[in-house]
Amino acid sequence: MPTGGPLGAYLADPFLADLYRAVREAGPIKPISVDLTHICNLRCQGCYFFEEGMDHRQSPAQEADFDAFIAREKERGTNFVTVVGGEPSLALGRLGKIYRDFWTNVATNGLRRIPREGFETLPIGISVWGDHATDRQLRGGGRRDVFATALSNYRDDPRAFWYYTVAPGHAHEIERVVRSCVDNGNRVLFNFYCDIAGLGGEMDARGDGGFAEVRRQIDRMIERYPDRILMTSYLSQVVTTGRLYDQRWGWDVCTSITADNDINRWRIDNGQPYNPHFRAYNADLTSTRRCCTGEDRDCGTCFDVWEHFAWIMIHLRKHLGSAEEFTRWLTSTYLFYWINRIVDFPSGVEKLPEIHRRVLRSVSVPPPGPPTIAPRPEMGVALG
Ligand code: SF4
Ligand code: SF4
Repeated sequence: MPTGGPLGAYLADPFLADLYRAVREAGPIKPISVDLTHICNLRCQGCYFFEEGMDHRQSPAQEADFDAFIAREKERGTNFVTVVGGEPSLALGRLGKIYRDFWTNVATNGLRRIPREGFETLPIGISVWGDHATDRQLRGGGRRDVFATALSNYRDDPRAFWYYTVAPGHAHEIERVVRSCVDNGNRVLFNFYCDIAGLGGEMDARGDGGFAEVRRQIDRMIERYPDRILMTSYLSQVVTTGRLYDQRWGWDVCTSITADNDINRWRIDNGQPYNPHFRAYNADLTSTRRCCTGEDRDCGTCFDVWEHFAWIMIHLRKHLGSAEEFTRWLTSTYLFYWINRIVDFPSGVEKLPEIHRRVLRSVSVPPPGPPTIAPRPEMGVALG
């Protein structure tokens, strides 16, 4: 990271200097994502894992093969693993092996509690897709209250944060879902529903208004619970508008791609920055796919928040035009490191309200309307 020029002036602010120092001392992230298992105890509507047949790549039966994978990644210099699935809590022994060797973040549906013993400071993102009725419909097959079970499993658990995926037409549920999570003693990170299953209507972000109302409600929640919301107003703006300065969100600028997978050759060759270390491993732990969320997925349906974090983080230089812009970049980057416990966690707890205070006042609200997502280039064209 550069330290001269305008950056030096911005870092005269002790608060920003503190955040910046924490990120720098932690160093660069060399990430991978891993499907820990091909098995899940739910079948959610719009789950990319099953929609794209990723469960056909089965996890290795032999523990020795799993251990060899860990050894290879350590040798390669990997230091951060996002564990997804299938459902990682169904493979706790292997989850523990990853946790002991890397900074780790796990996504779980919350039905089976990940114990504290052996996972003392693991960041656990528990998915919820709406209030009890919506979540039951989308994830519980119309019968099972997955949200209620997960709330009970993670009550007052400091490792837990809710990974709340909001559908565009469900902004009215946000307040009561967030209140349930906060009253449960947890924090909340928002994600945005991707209509992979083609449900349409209120589930489709390309309909009336896109995520504009969702975004307004998220800002309200930030104001109300500044010590509990893990998403800044800026990150929410970037995801929901699909805009970052001169760029529009899509495969051509996405940084969370498997760099050495041939499917991404066109993307690598187009000159946009990317993380050369990143790989998205299938459950067999030998094959990789285009990105975390798919092999042949339409990027126009992609609103995944972690990928947008990475998009912002890789573009420091774009954010050097003013102290406000740099603040947006630095707070996004710091939050990524903090949520994933790559920097000191207790000190981040104290900083969170001030981060929100600064970002909220610097982010202008764009006019309501559908997001401007770049259409994904046709694969044949892209690879030709
Ligand atoms: S819990 Fe996760 S992996 Fe399982 S079906 Fe739902 S979204 Fe897919
Ligand atoms: S689906 Fe999302 S994460 Fe995957 S390449 Fe497209 S934009 Fe990137």
